[in-house]
Amino acid sequence: MSTTAIPTQAPLAQPLPLVLPHSPHYDTARRAWNLVADQRPAAVCVATCVEHVQAAVGYARARRLRVAAQTTGHLAQTLPDLAGTLLLRLELHDAHVAVDPVARTARIKAGARWADVVEAVAPRGLAVMHGSSPSVGVIGYLLGGGLSFYGRAHGLAVNHVRAFEVVTAEGTRRRIDHRNGADLFYALRGGGGNFAIVTAVEIGLLPYAEVTGGALFFPAKDAFAVLRAWRDWTRTAPDTITTTFRMLRLPPLPEVPEPLRAVPTVCVDGVTLAPADAVGLERRLRYVSAPILGGFGPMPSSAVPRLHGDPEDPVPAIGDAMLLETLDDQAIEMFITSCSASGSRVPRRPRERSTPTSTGTSAPWRRGRRAPGLPASPSGAAHSRLVCRRPRCTDSPGSGRRSIPTGSWSPRTPSPESQH
Ligand SMILES: Cc1cc2nc3c(=O)[nH]c(=O)nc-3n(C[C@H](O)[C@H](O)[C@H](O)COP(=O)(O)OP(=O)(O)OC[C@H]3O[C@@H](n4cnc5c(N)ncnc54)[C@H](O)[C@@H]3O)c2cc1C
Repeated sequence: MSTTAIPTQAPLAQPLPLVLPHSPHYDTARRAWNLVADQRPAAVCVATCVEHVQAAVGYARARRLRVAAQTTGHLAQTLPDLAGTLLLRLELHDAHVAVDPVARTARIKAGARWADVVEAVAPRGLAVMHGSSPSVGVIGYLLGGGLSFYGRAHGLAVNHVRAFEVVTAEGTRRRIDHRNGADLFYALRGGGGNFAIVTAVEIGLLPYAEVTGGALFFPAKDAFAVLRAWRDWTRTAPDTITTTFRMLRLPPLPEVPEPLRAVPTVCVDGVTLAPADAVGLERRLRYVSAPILGGFGPMPSSAVPRLHGDPEDPVPAIGDAMLLETLDDQAIEMFITSCSASGSRVPRRPRERSTPTSTGTSAPWRRGRRAPGLPASPSGAAHSRLVCRRPRCTDSPGSGRRSIPTGSWSPRTPSPESQH
């Protein structure tokens, strides 16, 4: 087993970079990307090297503190109360992503965001299995599985991982892969961040300098027709194309195209590796509604991380996600209704068009945790989405059968206490 043990109490050249609650830097150090999360840990360690991580684990063990690993805090709202916890911020990324263009692999240090990786691989004509946001952390995304715009062709992002470099709960440094530490390798691939602190990852890359991608925006009055057309299209859509359906209310900002400002719209966006797929999708959608703007066409793969328009800087947001096996007409109506109730003012499906559900059972969301479509402030952007992505590989905890993952989040106006 290729394990390199470094003693937990190895002397550090510099003191452990700890930020304690009385420090003037505490509010900056504890701040998460998601401003809804008001994290108040017992201490924050901003680790910039593996030795920091090992020492931080030793520090926490000696004081009986729990350890919460965090890169950006995109998922911070899901953490429990952090009293009695050392918040371990991973900032090992040093602006260098090691790319091997022949083997088509990259070694990425913890702390890197997907934008850092795309910037490093794109000049070599390569792409990577990033998600919809350039500012999401590479490691946190991979540990959750990773649903990408290349997902239906290439499966979950985490199944492209060749090796993880980790620090274990004992403070031991290890490199794990299919052969070395196979159980831990399995658990990390979709099992989340509870099994080890990941300090670096080696991942396979994709040979795409250019893809076909785009977005079509429709008036919200046509939400039911567009979603039903998109749903029907997904039943036979080729695996080369990955798309999302979203209900949006974009803010009245100068960077938002004028016809989309402050009005409820619906959007279908995505990426395909076969241009003909996009032609078929556009034809189906344009048949049921005239788009306000948008379209699909060739684009460099380096532009894909910003195709979806996710906010990159910290915002207050709430969200949830679930996997659906089916999306019947009743579920579609519930989705649209809940978005309407949340402030998007989207009309419901006309009564006369009502059809029985295909399964004859209650809508899938009634069996799930809760429906998407969350309250948004009048000034904020609202966003609810359905994603047609089939995680293809089945040998990791995050894999699944053909399904429609759904997710939604809504930036909210921060409360005074969350504006730290
Ligand atoms: C705007 C937005 C867009 C998104 N788009 C997508 C998408 O397209 N596809 C998709 O699959 N997901 C998407 N997500 C979900 C995102 O992948 C997860 O929230 C992910 O966990 C964020 O990782 P992070 O490191 O940025 O966040 P963090 O909150 O820093 O980390 C999340 C969790 O990952 C673990 N973790 C992070 N770093 C480490 C580490 N070095 N070692 C051990 N554990 C660690 C911890 O358990 C931590 O609680 C999106 C989320 C947002 C907010």
